[in-house]
Amino acid sequence: MLRAVKITPKLVVRFAFLPFRKVRNPCLYCPGICIASCPTYLSSGNILLSPIGYARFHDIAREKCLKCWRCVQECPLGYNLPETYSKPVKISLRIVRPGRLILVADEEIDLQLAEHLSESLGTGLAVVKGVAERYNNGSPIEYKTLKKAKRVLSGAELAVACSPEVSHALGIDFLGIHLKDLGIKLNYEGPIHIPCLLKSQREKLLKSLEDAGVRPTFVDEEECIKLSIKENYLYLCPIAKKHGVRTIFDLISY
Ligand code: SF4
Ligand code: SF4
Repeated sequence: MLRAVKITPKLVVRFAFLPFRKVRNPCLYCPGICIASCPTYLSSGNILLSPIGYARFHDIAREKCLKCWRCVQECPLGYNLPETYSKPVKISLRIVRPGRLILVADEEIDLQLAEHLSESLGTGLAVVKGVAERYNNGSPIEYKTLKKAKRVLSGAELAVACSPEVSHALGIDFLGIHLKDLGIKLNYEGPIHIPCLLKSQREKLLKSLEDAGVRPTFVDEEECIKLSIKENYLYLCPIAKKHGVRTIFDLISY
């Protein structure tokens, strides 16, 4: 896949001066360094369905952008494009069951799964509200509510997210990184998918999966689960369960 962008002196100068200008939308200054990572652009070839198009037309973005945050990870300015689509969302977090180790679930995404896991593994459980809305609509989290949620979790020795969305939103590790701490063993050999939101945790995640008994024959980091699903893959996202494909949660023996 082509990931090259011609870095011209003019582009370097434009970027270098950005911090000194009053800029509302840095995408207007960039040729689209991120577009080779955008699943909707790669599948359509339509520039309107790329970060550049979404940065200019929020109505299209709200509907078509997958809110996968891939472009944010590629953008040299760290421009958080999906956070510009909608107004800030408030989140709230409550501890359902205290514990040294706490599983954190979103009320809409994976609460049932987390309740079952937490009971079986004997861990604490916390439920957060509002995270699904952020990844459905594209919105920042209201800072005060994020701070409060983190304060509530700070009493636990270790808090891990059951979904990539909660991990990304709260800045806590995904459960897949702590399989050993949770005493989880998995027996699987075959292709696996790394979720868009967990790309930055890739190395730790692969090591933990391998230590737990996963033997990947192929690691797919390009596809977004919201756009394409492969029946023979092992997925790490709880939302993959809705598509009837296998996830790491199906391999956990209780
Ligand atoms: S998000 Fe960043 S890399 Fe992508 S077009 Fe905008 S400024 Fe460029
Ligand atoms: S969040 Fe994903 S789908 Fe949306 S513009 Fe960025 S890379 Fe493309």
